[in-house]
Amino acid sequence: MTNLQEAFSPENFRQNAHNLVDLLADYLEKSQDQSISSVIPYQEPEETLAFWKADFEKGKGDINEFFKQTIEKSMHLHHPRYMGHQVTPPLPITAMAGMLTGMLNNGMAVYEMGLVSNPLERILSDLLAKRIGFDKNASGLLTSGGTLANLTALLAARASKTEVWEEGNQEKLAVMVSEEAHYCIDRAARIMGMGSDGIIKIPANEKLQIRTDLLEKYYQEAIKKGLKVICIVGSACSTSSGSYDNLEEIALFAEKHKLWFHVDGAHGGAVIFSEKYKHKVKGINQADSVVIDWHKMLMTPALATALIFKSDEDAFKTFQQKAQYLWANQHSKDWFNSGKRTFECTKLMMSVKIYSILKAHGEHIFGENVDYLYDLGRIFAKLIQSRPNFELAIEPESNIVCFRIINSTFNDTNEINTLTRQQLLQEGKFYIVQTTLQEKVYLRVSLMNPLTTETDLNALLDEVENIYNQVSRK
Ligand SMILES: *Cc1c(COP(=O)(O)O)cnc(C)c1O
Repeated sequence: MTNLQEAFSPENFRQNAHNLVDLLADYLEKSQDQSISSVIPYQEPEETLAFWKADFEKGKGDINEFFKQTIEKSMHLHHPRYMGHQVTPPLPITAMAGMLTGMLNNGMAVYEMGLVSNPLERILSDLLAKRIGFDKNASGLLTSGGTLANLTALLAARASKTEVWEEGNQEKLAVMVSEEAHYCIDRAARIMGMGSDGIIKIPANEKLQIRTDLLEKYYQEAIKKGLKVICIVGSACSTSSGSYDNLEEIALFAEKHKLWFHVDGAHGGAVIFSEKYKHKVKGINQADSVVIDWHKMLMTPALATALIFKSDEDAFKTFQQKAQYLWANQHSKDWFNSGKRTFECTKLMMSVKIYSILKAHGEHIFGENVDYLYDLGRIFAKLIQSRPNFELAIEPESNIVCFRIINSTFNDTNEINTLTRQQLLQEGKFYIVQTTLQEKVYLRVSLMNPLTTETDLNALLDEVENIYNQVSRK
């Protein structure tokens, strides 16, 4: 056998893949019963680089050992004390689908390269459109991440309101967005040539929602400066604080000035699956476009993001471009040629991973996940409020909870919270992050793991207090 033949050997694959499944099942088990040593085996960047450089120097070696080390040395999202960034611990079924799609590698840009994934993508988009409350004219697509999806939505907004795609920039364009919006909106607008002037940041209120009472004022000021406002973005919810903007009021404003209304629901758009929490996105059905990450609240491995348009027309306007070798008919609106509507050409078979959840567990599991984690956010807030040394940033509206330690004996509250979070990271027993809200440093928790319980949350607060006591004694 040549080296290449051996590399493709079905028997080797069977053997190694079985071993990998055992490794992953052990990882799941030890994470869930918390016998795995840490949530994050934190090491400094230079240390981790040195480790892998030494490994690299050894050249070819045991693949099982490499897989094992990769598990050991990574962040463990399936550990109930993982509460950091908004990435889901994926359902095991989706990891299996990941192996399947990795092997099949159907690239999706044209129909025949996605015979399964293109129709599934259509079905999943229709499902989301229905839950959003759009009618039959809606359509959608999957793309690699909320950042790219938001850029695509803004490009669609521009295509709908201007002729920039053909004629280039003639006017100074602008978008309106909350100061609490995800930074990718700002970045997208800059990529599109709008510059600082073109990003109109509207202040947030004390609940960190966009101040809709200021929209008209900021809009008029923009017009006076000679800007053409094309779009307004609502956050559902904002990343730092988990606050939902008032989408109904934004919709009214967008309607009045004929603006494109985009909802960035990367994290919290998932509430459309929850009877209990879907009221948070009331008005979302008025949007022209909506982004929802499947890899945040919907238990799918990254990256997998939906972009749903109220009108099918708009979806196809975004990238009107000739690529003769790909599509025989440039101007037809074929849903099954994914590349006509996405930035990406070759694309992952994300829909297969998502669909595997529906097949194995049913749609209901999405709502269950949202309900459990959002409920847990409220429980955590109560625990924080019951302890005198802690302060809640705002009453949480989602599973994102920001809080900080306060103590009159220590005057630099920002510093003590930063130090505490650093220490937590190095200990590795919990993983949380930090954020700055209106110039105050907060510890920030995103409850992403539906196996996290109140016991874990109390243990976190105990640990933070411990660390605080050590740090403040120094
Ligand atoms: C996470 C997030 C994004 C970015 O999405 P990625 O999938 O990480 O690229 C954008 N907007 C909001 C509100 C988010 O929470």
